[in-house]
Amino acid sequence: MTATRPEPRAGVLAIDAYVPGKSTAPGAAKVYKLSSNETPLGPSPTAIKAYETVGKHLQDYPDGSASDLREAIGRVYGLDPSRIVCGAGSDDLLNLLARAYLSDGDEAIHTTHGFLVYPIATLGTGATPVVAPEKDLTADVDAILKRVTPKTRMVFLANPNNPTGTYIPFDEVKRLHKGLPPNVLFVIDAAYSEYVQRNDYESGIELVATSDNVVMVRTFSKIHGLAALRLGWVYGPAHVIDAINRIRGPFNVNAPAIAAGIAAIEDAAHQERSREHNSKWLAWLTDEIGKLGLKVTPSVANFVLIHFPDQKGKTAKEADAFLTKRGLVLRQVGAYKLPNALRMSVGTEEANRLVVKALADFLDGAK
Ligand SMILES: *Cc1c(COP(=O)(O)O)cnc(C)c1O
Repeated sequence: MTATRPEPRAGVLAIDAYVPGKSTAPGAAKVYKLSSNETPLGPSPTAIKAYETVGKHLQDYPDGSASDLREAIGRVYGLDPSRIVCGAGSDDLLNLLARAYLSDGDEAIHTTHGFLVYPIATLGTGATPVVAPEKDLTADVDAILKRVTPKTRMVFLANPNNPTGTYIPFDEVKRLHKGLPPNVLFVIDAAYSEYVQRNDYESGIELVATSDNVVMVRTFSKIHGLAALRLGWVYGPAHVIDAINRIRGPFNVNAPAIAAGIAAIEDAAHQERSREHNSKWLAWLTDEIGKLGLKVTPSVANFVLIHFPDQKGKTAKEADAFLTKRGLVLRQVGAYKLPNALRMSVGTEEANRLVVKALADFLDGAK
């Protein structure tokens, strides 16, 4: 039968639209946004200056291939710029990868508490998301490999993962890659890699450089503090880069983002300050929240996942309402199948101390 109105392709209406973290706390005198893993230090001052300079030339189209930015990234990481594509946030690139490599009936694997953009991007192509269980809120390589079928075309792995903050060591990433058929595209999302301080971690660069079926996706939204500008990049084999370049928007990255991105990635000192701030306060928050009797998942990123008791008056939802009244905006993670946890971005010293104090009051039953 002919449809009586335009109908979206299979899968589209199965998507639960992404709900971003709250940014308001009605009634609170001051709002501390700790819900989207933005950096409390803001962007590099040179990035802000570069952004403002371009703001005087908004009539001009940007360089559609973002060459200067790709060259800057190449210099900083020692990569061939022709194997990089920039996008309007890594969201843009994750969707482009799905569009280029998935069709109706294909399967793409992600883990239970994996980033929500993966199933959204997958369903949008008509393909089926396949969920691999995790172990201790951490990706489980064997569980992922067990779910590979002849229909599998992609595997998404956030390393470290959001919202859990956990990671798998490079040996495990390599073992996962080794177990995948060569026609499966392995997408390593390293949005938080700059924060990781572990000797057994590698962001994915080495694996991309030595394989034909691995890409690494990176973002300027987190340590670089440019979430508002929407900027990300993907490093991959030449044949994948070629495919993405054919389907991306011809001007998918705007000029202010290109200019600010170059300044940001070249400001190593600012990134180091962010890393130092994060290491110090990540450890402090994990400790202090733990002392209150709440379980905190060990994180290597710039946020912590806090677990609440399954007890009326003490649940994550109630904690969220309590914190929001004080202007402390954390992230509910029910959509990530973690209904009784909250995710908190590492904030300024002031924000971090206020959250710990508020959690203590909440658990004490204060109003
Ligand atoms: C925040 C985040 C990103 C970045 O998304 P952008 O579109 O670049 O802002 C990518 N992947 C994960 C897992 C994230 O948490």
